Amino acid sequence: MLSGTATAAAEEAPLTRRTLIQRDRGLLWHPYAPLGGDAPYAAHGAQGTRLSLAAEDGSCFEAVDAMSSWWSAIHGYRNPALDAALLDQAGRFSHVMFGGLTHEPAVRLAEQLAAMTGLDHVFFADSGSVSVEVALKLAVQYQLGRGRPGRNRFLALRGGYHGDTFAAMAVCDPVDGMHAAFPAQIREQLFLPRPPAARLVGGVLRADSSEVAAWIDTLEAMVRGHSDELAAIIVEPVLQGAGGMHVYAPECLAAARRVASENGLLLIVDEIATGFGRTGKLFASQWADVVPDIMCVGKALTGGYLTLAAMLCSSRVAAVVTESPLRALLHGPTFMGNPLACAVASASLELLETSNWQQQVAGIEHGLAAALAPARGLDAVKEVRVLGAVGVVELTVPVDVKAASAAALDCGVWIRPFRNLIYTMPPFISSAEDVATIGAGVCAAVDGVHG
Ligand SMILES: *Cc1c(COP(=O)(O)O)cnc(C)c1O
Repeated sequence: MLSGTATAAAEEAPLTRRTLIQRDRGLLWHPYAPLGGDAPYAAHGAQGTRLSLAAEDGSCFEAVDAMSSWWSAIHGYRNPALDAALLDQAGRFSHVMFGGLTHEPAVRLAEQLAAMTGLDHVFFADSGSVSVEVALKLAVQYQLGRGRPGRNRFLALRGGYHGDTFAAMAVCDPVDGMHAAFPAQIREQLFLPRPPAARLVGGVLRADSSEVAAWIDTLEAMVRGHSDELAAIIVEPVLQGAGGMHVYAPECLAAARRVASENGLLLIVDEIATGFGRTGKLFASQWADVVPDIMCVGKALTGGYLTLAAMLCSSRVAAVVTESPLRALLHGPTFMGNPLACAVASASLELLETSNWQQQVAGIEHGLAAALAPARGLDAVKEVRVLGAVGVVELTVPVDVKAASAAALDCGVWIRPFRNLIYTMPPFISSAEDVATIGAGVCAAVDGVHG
């Protein structure tokens, strides 16, 4: 190294970071972005609700995190309990194969998840998309086990998002999910229209009752017309995330539960974005008091530390597969049940259960409603909506992502808009000041770029 003194090191650091952005460009792909097209900032630290970032010119700054690193960092960054759980497990062993072996972190986490969800059986996957693949597989194996091999398609929702692998993509919205780019890889599935929008009024999600009734009629007709080929209905409960941040009537979720049961279909709820308190309920299915046959969780599962997801199912579903000629669920990732990820997830769930997350989320909901209200008056704004620790400003035009992100950063806020949506889902530990700052940053981004 060139320098021995702190001053010299501080002067050198920005140059190193500027080089990092340049070294990244053209070398690394970033999510849904052209090569070389999208990494204008580098992160060099994260603590609590703050990200430490550097721009290409080497300037460093802190920003309040409005994204929880895509729904995951619910307890914020460098949480002492999660750090300790990770280090403790690393001091024992970081990984062993799950084939033929079990271990404490996996068993403990599975017990916690079963207790939280009321579903008795757990399959650990290494990402949300993979857990959706496993859920779809399980549904097909279930129907096979019941002697119905023809029931192997899925009914999904327009505007849904379930992941980026091919089977998961096939149940994503056909247009947003880019089905047209992969005609040979995507199995054609069946879709219902987006369920009618619901808005929070006095703590209750309300929707237009005639729209809801019409949607349920469509659901019933679709399922009756195709029950001999459908294995399951798959939905994001009440809040569709990456497909448009759309909040819908819980009655539609309840109807999906009923109609699935009446017609021998399974109900798969994808709680990967909504699980663990984000919408104000521990699981968003609880807005409709729905118990699914199969549930997927991920994202916040490890508090944002490591990649881990889980598929859970009822004992009824598991029993059919176990008693079928195949007996096994036909999946088994190399890093299944990774002990580091399980240990951190366990600590994260413990933290959630011993924290006052209901109060934290209610506080964020309240704070976001107030802080985003000024956006309502802006020309480019179609709607502002808040559910739990999720705040959404929907524009009438596509967001200029680069300009909007930069405008928010000028107010000290990290956002990552998409399509016509500037949205936030802050860590649950965000203070009232953090939430106010986020609201101001979002409003400034809307006003400054699209006002
Ligand atoms: C993010 C997400 C997924 C995919 O999870 P990955 O870990 O990114 O594979 C699936 N479903 C929903 C609802 C999601 O929000």
